[in-house]
Amino acid sequence: MNTILIDTQQNNDTVWLAEAAGILRSGGLVAFPTETVYGLGGNALDPEAAKKIYAAKGRPSDNPLILHIADMEALSGIAKEIPPMAEKLADAFWPGPMTMVFEKRPEVPDATTGGLPTAAVRMPAHPTALALIRAAGLPIAAPSANLSGRPSPTTAAHVWEDLHDRIPMILDGGPCGIGLESTVVDVTGEVPVILRPGYVTREMIAEVCGACAVDPAVEHPTEGMRPKAPGMKYRHYAPKAPLTLVEGEAKAAAEKIASLAAEAAGKGLRVGILGTEETAALYRELLPEAVKDRIRVQVIGSRKDPSSVARNLFAALRAFDETGEEELFGETFPTDHLGFAVMNRLEKAAGHKKIQA
Ligand code: AMP
Ligand code: MG
Repeated sequence: MNTILIDTQQNNDTVWLAEAAGILRSGGLVAFPTETVYGLGGNALDPEAAKKIYAAKGRPSDNPLILHIADMEALSGIAKEIPPMAEKLADAFWPGPMTMVFEKRPEVPDATTGGLPTAAVRMPAHPTALALIRAAGLPIAAPSANLSGRPSPTTAAHVWEDLHDRIPMILDGGPCGIGLESTVVDVTGEVPVILRPGYVTREMIAEVCGACAVDPAVEHPTEGMRPKAPGMKYRHYAPKAPLTLVEGEAKAAAEKIASLAAEAAGKGLRVGILGTEETAALYRELLPEAVKDRIRVQVIGSRKDPSSVARNLFAALRAFDETGEEELFGETFPTDHLGFAVMNRLEKAAGHKKIQA
């Protein structure tokens, strides 16, 4: 299948919107930008479209899809009931990077929800995504537009890398502003429960609802717990080379990473380091000249601005695959606020391999 790539910033809506909506209405797939990551969209009410999404991504079919909507009216067609806490959260964070899990109505097919009696719903805050959903006149099921297991795509080039020739159309709206997937919140119980951390933090949700719990499997994923968001149990976000995280205060961690990197490079390996603006100069100082040409430091952002780290993280992980480093080391971040989501993705990318500085 030939894939059409359309730059939505250079082309007027009239060039692509009707065609993209037509593909969705006839059961086909369109990849599109959102403020979090790129999504791979299909008609959420059509089980055949859901099957195409799973096939294109190579995704296990028990991992449910998020339904994307453009207005609150569409929510009533999906959710059996809209609890008061969901109304509050929607008021506070929609359109935006937060997904809510509701008891589903029977119209939502099992193929979309991976057989679950619940449906996850989000109203994205991206003009291209909203225009597409409105033009299609449907809820759009859209997981991240990457091959299953790879880092999520934050540019159309990442989507192209993974999915060209597998889907008919990719809309290029430039790089995603947030760069991490949405926060998934279960609103079917007494208090909101975070099933997947994201840009909307536990602290922000607690401020709106008075309380916010976190599914225990998010924080203790290696202890045989069954996460309530099925996707959380899969290997995810992983670069091709093994990644080890080094915990500790930034300077101590950088020193430890520099010595581990020098040791690996001394054995002839090509080494990648996930560093920050605050530590970049330290690596330049600490890495021995003899092995420097085998070590690449990728700066992902500033420790003073966690959103810069979130925005660049997936692109950095993909870049290591491109440049072919064989052993990777990464710094860690405090787990409050947005750091909770950043560390959740980093730990998954590292397969939970962590050492102390
Ligand atoms: P992605 O499609 O890659 O953004 O991942 C969507 C995430 O939402 C996965 O972790 C899913 O398991 C989770 N999810 C989707 N629908 C539900 C649901 N009905 N209940 C719980 N988690 C869900
Ligand atoms: Mg994904």
